[in-house]
Amino acid sequence: MSGQAIDCDIHPSVPGTQVLLPYLEEHWREHILYRGIDDLELTYTMQRSDFACRPDWRPATGKPGGDLALVQAQALDGFKSRIGILNPLWGAQVVFADDLALALCRAVNGWIAKEWLDRDPRLRASIVVPIDSPELAAEEIERCAGDRRFVQVLLLAMNEAPLGRRHYWPIYRAAERFGLPIGIHAGTGYRHAPTGCGWPSHHIEDYVAQAGGFQTQLFSLLTEGVFGKFPDLKVVLIESGISWLPSVLWRANKTWRGIRMEVPWIKEPPADIIRRQVRMTVQPLNAPPREDDVQKLLDQIGSDEMLLFASDYPHWQFDGEDPMPPGLPRSLLQKIMVDNPIATYGRLREVVQ
Ligand code: ZN
Repeated sequence: MSGQAIDCDIHPSVPGTQVLLPYLEEHWREHILYRGIDDLELTYTMQRSDFACRPDWRPATGKPGGDLALVQAQALDGFKSRIGILNPLWGAQVVFADDLALALCRAVNGWIAKEWLDRDPRLRASIVVPIDSPELAAEEIERCAGDRRFVQVLLLAMNEAPLGRRHYWPIYRAAERFGLPIGIHAGTGYRHAPTGCGWPSHHIEDYVAQAGGFQTQLFSLLTEGVFGKFPDLKVVLIESGISWLPSVLWRANKTWRGIRMEVPWIKEPPADIIRRQVRMTVQPLNAPPREDDVQKLLDQIGSDEMLLFASDYPHWQFDGEDPMPPGLPRSLLQKIMVDNPIATYGRLREVVQ
């Protein structure tokens, strides 16, 4: 696998709103300067804080993940990756004004193309979209899709409404049309508390609660019929953790058997649909480190096609030089690091075959 791995989750940092100004249309550049929000800091805590970044990956100045040379040395060269997919965690999607959110998303995509993709042929990126304005999001997907270095559409785990709702379907229609998976990354648009019980006090609560958000989205996509309506669409859960999946698969099947009259468009066991159309990145795995325990987890998942290699650079998910979580059998490395990512991201087949 050396030199062949495809890293499906690398986080570049937007240094600040100022760097995006050249990538905004004139009206929006003036708007942002006139309103005095050109110093707006929208980088998520999980991307900019020291505790989110491995100590030996922290740059001398600036935010973790903000220096292309370090990303090249520590992530691409460091893990001998042939391709790395950039997922920018800068909250352009958080803005409530639809048109401004679209303008900022367009600027992030333009900045990524020019400042990152143009400077290293190993890099690919996800398209950042104004999630809660699905028609505008679809426009942005269409605008970026001509650049085949964009390989995915990036959503967050928590938004205005559950992601299966028909309101969001223009995003899936556009993604499927252009052969782009939907990547759902940990994160929130802060439309609601990240837990079903209200606002937590600490980042640790917020981060752990993300798994519940992912599970809600998975059930929403399933029960609203997104997977049936868009059968060629792949959904990648990124930085979701994985060890919760078997119980969700089991419970989905059991509950569906009991009350499937409520969702007659689901014509096969939900676990089969999830195994076919959902993928997950392996950092963090959130599983016990012993190989026999991890093997049990894999047996319970029941598919060797769902897991995708990701370092989650520069987030501090592991120490040392091996980016693969402990316990994963070596017999699966080729699939996780190469075969599964290529099967998931259709656009990578153009450069990797
Ligand atoms: Zn990540």
